Amino acid sequence: MPECVFCKIASKAIPASIVYETADVVAFKDLTPRAPFHVLVIPRTHVAKLSELEDEALGGKLLQAARTVAKNAGHADNFRLVVNNGDSAGQSVWHLHLHVLGGRQFTWPPG
Ligand code: 5GP
Ligand code: ZN
Repeated sequence: MPECVFCKIASKAIPASIVYETADVVAFKDLTPRAPFHVLVIPRTHVAKLSELEDEALGGKLLQAARTVAKNAGHADNFRLVVNNGDSAGQSVWHLHLHVLGGRQFTWPPG
């Protein structure tokens, strides 16, 4: 899937502000941050969306990475995790990603 922008970020074919990486996941700053802290956590392997994720262990690793990046940025106990899955949920990049947002007060319900 060489045309996938997040695959390219994971392989470092295109630059991103990477804040954390392991053998399985990469986390980098969102290009258009919606909060003072806004990082995307992705699997290195291409999975189009959460509803297509079959590897349960990888799901756990993504959650663990989200927790770690929030903690490393000083938001251990106050952050929001968002996964937009599919068109009607607002997904625009078709490589699974967890939004980790922090640094401000969030409202509920989301738009
Ligand atoms: P979605 O709407 O699919 O849930 O979120 C996609 C996110 O990816 C958006 O917040 C958007 O700002 C971010 N994004 C899209 N292209 C790039 C890129 O090339 N680099 C980075 N760092 N973020 C991107
Ligand atoms: Zn991809």
